[in-house]
Amino acid sequence: MKSLKTTLISLAKNRFNEKEIDFLEKAINFAEESHQEQKRLTGEPFVNHPLRVALLLTQMKLDLNTIIAGLLHDVVEDTKITNQQIRSEFNEEIAFLVNSLTKINKIKYQQKNNSDDNSFSQQQIDQENFRNMILAMAKDLRVIIIKLVDRLDNMKTLWALPLEKQKRKAQETLDIFAPLAYRLGLTDIGAQLEDLAFPYVYPEEYKLTRKIVGRRREKLEAYLKSIVPILLEQLKKNHLEPLAIKYRTKHWYSIWRKLQKEEMDIKRVYDLVAMRLIMPTVSDCYAALGVIHSIWKPVPGRFKDYIALPKPNGYQSLHTTVFAENGQIVEIQIRTKEMDEEAEWGVASHWFYQEMKDNKTYKKRKSYVPPKKFYWIRQLQEWQKQFYNTTDPQQFLDFLKTDFFKDRIFVLTPKGDIIDLPEGATPIDFAYQIHSEIGNEAIGAKVNDKLVPLDYQLKSGEVVEIITKKGKLPSPSWLEFVKMAETKKKIEEVLRRHKLF
Ligand code: MN
Repeated sequence: MKSLKTTLISLAKNRFNEKEIDFLEKAINFAEESHQEQKRLTGEPFVNHPLRVALLLTQMKLDLNTIIAGLLHDVVEDTKITNQQIRSEFNEEIAFLVNSLTKINKIKYQQKNNSDDNSFSQQQIDQENFRNMILAMAKDLRVIIIKLVDRLDNMKTLWALPLEKQKRKAQETLDIFAPLAYRLGLTDIGAQLEDLAFPYVYPEEYKLTRKIVGRRREKLEAYLKSIVPILLEQLKKNHLEPLAIKYRTKHWYSIWRKLQKEEMDIKRVYDLVAMRLIMPTVSDCYAALGVIHSIWKPVPGRFKDYIALPKPNGYQSLHTTVFAENGQIVEIQIRTKEMDEEAEWGVASHWFYQEMKDNKTYKKRKSYVPPKKFYWIRQLQEWQKQFYNTTDPQQFLDFLKTDFFKDRIFVLTPKGDIIDLPEGATPIDFAYQIHSEIGNEAIGAKVNDKLVPLDYQLKSGEVVEIITKKGKLPSPSWLEFVKMAETKKKIEEVLRRHKLF
């Protein structure tokens, strides 16, 4: 068996030059020496953990500094090495990444020392943890990507931890890390995190899900493969040829959530396995959809065009559900190669493309600011600043729970700009996202050209227009129905300024 070290180096050789490989080897040796005496609770040498983290970061095609930061991420925290040493031995950027990760993790150790604390202070600690994480993430997204990969590896060896810790870590993974991965578009990591946590948090439900699904996934995949020749023939007649056909198997935790929605009826979970067509261009995607609907009738109301209207995390694809051969209901997803890579690697895929496109910019760039479509990360940074100094720290936690991690909808402005909101958001929440003044001066709202009450719950895809009146102030009654913690805060501020609150 090849050692982790050899695998890492040979994989890195595909992308980095000799000098860079030397730098990587120096980091590997440094990590090995620093962690020399340490063992994981699994009994293996500690250094295997950072090696696996670095290996996954390399597979995700992240840059060399990130990979090295992954190798060194536990060095300052767990050994005598200081951040200054990392700076002088490696570079400023690696030292920054490692330092950010150490800061995030420090909170964990306070928890350890006060293990008999009550749940209130536990929440206090979590809050501080959140704040540090958000701060670090807004500065440089790579910090959070390393953190997610670190958590993923730790979840794989969760069995070695004491029972009470297993449950807490798994719960935290479901509550914070998996949603964070999805928000960054790292769907594959999000799904893995959920499936690793699922049996620890909900053991009975996990067993039940496995039992209900049985061999259905394998059978459905075999069926999908059997209908492919029919599809390919029709596509060919229309001069269309997919670059690839893939089969996406729904992960356990997601099946469980779907089962709950569908009254535990597995027959209604149509996308247990979905067929995925990778087409050369966007217009080929729509053309292929037309062909599919001409051979197999679509199930009404199940078609989704995430190409024209991408999900808030940037996800793009066409989804349709059809009655295929023998009336079997199946889901088919159609997208381009770029969309497919982004669906899997999210933000990381952007960096990869930039790196490939323009090596000079890549080398010069100091820190990794989020691409435009992840503008919400910049928003987070703004919100973070606003909430950081509030006297009531609970407000920040509320904000994260309602505004950030909640399921998202996207609505449109009359000009067609997409606004990303939490589920249940009202026209007032929408107005404050456009501009505080528009929120303050709102007197009415139109959804798809029809007047709606201000407490109306917006739905994805709706076009929202706000009617304003100059000099008007927000009404205290709005506080009772607005959804977002950020909206509440803005309204309260104006009311307080005018002594109405
Ligand atoms: Mn670690």
